[in-house]
Amino acid sequence: MTRGFKRLHFKPSPFPMRDKGKLVATDERCMCQHPRSKHRDTAAYGHGSCAVCDCQQFSWQAFLIQGESA
Ligand SMILES: [Zn+2]
Ligand SMILES: [Zn+2]
Repeated sequence: MTRGFKRLHFKPSPFPMRDKGKLVATDERCMCQHPRSKHRDTAAYGHGSCAVCDCQQFSWQAFLIQGESA
């Protein structure tokens, strides 16, 4: 299965996140400005350190919805 890819996630992604059928988020943004999908897993998906910068732990800042840049 693995072909030299850095394995960021071993937990299933909670995204896209829906509430009663309404799209709530396709990702979440950390205080470091990188998405949760770029953070490593801990006990939960994407709650660990950032793969892009030196952020040590995901700190929720905002929901991201695909198609919106901010
Ligand atoms: Zn971060
Ligand atoms: Zn980061």
